Amino acid sequence: MTAQTKLTNAVLWSPDLPEPLDGADILVEGGLIADIVPAGTGGAAETVIDCDGRWVIPGMIDSHMHSWGARSSNPVHWVVGQSPLSWFRAVGDLRRILEAGFTTVREAGGPLGPGLRDAINEGEITGPRVFPAHLGISRTGGHGDCHSLPISWVTEQPYMARIADGADEVRTAVRAAARDGGEWVKIWASGAIALSDNDSPEHLHFSVEELEVICREAHALGMTVGAHVEFPSAIKACVLAGVDVIEHGFILDEETCLLMAKRQVPVVSTMALLHRYLRWDGPEITQAQVDLARELLPSVHASALLAYRSGVTVAIGSDSFAEPLTPFGANAEELLALHEAGLPAVACLEAATINGAKVMGKEKQLGSVTVGKIADLIVTGRTSPLDDLNTVVGADKITLVLRDGVPVAGTGLRRTLSL
Ligand SMILES: [Zn+2]
Repeated sequence: MTAQTKLTNAVLWSPDLPEPLDGADILVEGGLIADIVPAGTGGAAETVIDCDGRWVIPGMIDSHMHSWGARSSNPVHWVVGQSPLSWFRAVGDLRRILEAGFTTVREAGGPLGPGLRDAINEGEITGPRVFPAHLGISRTGGHGDCHSLPISWVTEQPYMARIADGADEVRTAVRAAARDGGEWVKIWASGAIALSDNDSPEHLHFSVEELEVICREAHALGMTVGAHVEFPSAIKACVLAGVDVIEHGFILDEETCLLMAKRQVPVVSTMALLHRYLRWDGPEITQAQVDLARELLPSVHASALLAYRSGVTVAIGSDSFAEPLTPFGANAEELLALHEAGLPAVACLEAATINGAKVMGKEKQLGSVTVGKIADLIVTGRTSPLDDLNTVVGADKITLVLRDGVPVAGTGLRRTLSL
């Protein structure tokens, strides 16, 4: 049998393998991994890609980003700056993320996600597969509100959240997200360290009743709930109310980690964002917020390590939302932040692959290079990513990106397509 595509002479790392396979042929058929065999034994193929000793790993998954084409970190601009220009910028942002080796993104609140997903699936534009929330849910004055604008502007031109208060309104907001093409439900269940004028990461933003209604309604529609929540007491309340994924989870204590591990609630780590706050000198982040981020950073690192050691599934999220603060294509920097926090390199790679698939409930289709799974994979360089995680950070390191088994990006794409 002649396979459609064969990657030959690869060194394969996949989270389901006990150790890397040095010298592998990976056969792709119909967009799926058809077989993995010793190099040279894969037989003929219509397209042969010689990896020449380069590493192959699963396409990475960014479990928390926003795709709305913003070029300012000021939330006011996110509300009033929505225009066709921002839509087209979002298309470019997604292409750059794909070039950086991310074949899937979980869009964590924004009006464009479902449209971008569909345009990519139709082949109109090139990008990663998008798992969108569409608009999330924030209470009045919450982190998805924009505090310095008239409330009517935010409700009439929502940029990442619907404003909803009380059981009836949050129920409607869940149904509206599903109606508009969202595949999961994003909520802002606490304030944030930065980028809100007057909310606090310490406060729980929904009543227990509101949280339970959101979870019940989402689950009834086959959707999971991911909660932006940063401090332990609010995190605990979310987990107990039935939230499926903790977004950010910057500060975690032992009790919270044990609860999350027991209930199999993953955390999407977004620490690189805090590192960026410390380097940022724009007016959008106040000195007090920078000081708070600096003060918390050691605890944030310790929390990620505690979560990992407690058996909590840790995935990575870039929280990319606006250049230049969060450059699209630098998404893999979260692996470096996790490594700096003390997680072993292999755990960081798992966070960027199979754990991202688990966050979406798609671990049977995505997240590893496994026979029968979707052939989303990337070819990197000749240095092991287990020895140096920098080898997967940035588009210049990514030789080839295959999505659904088709080469779509990478520095070696021209050679592959034999133009
Ligand atoms: Zn976010």
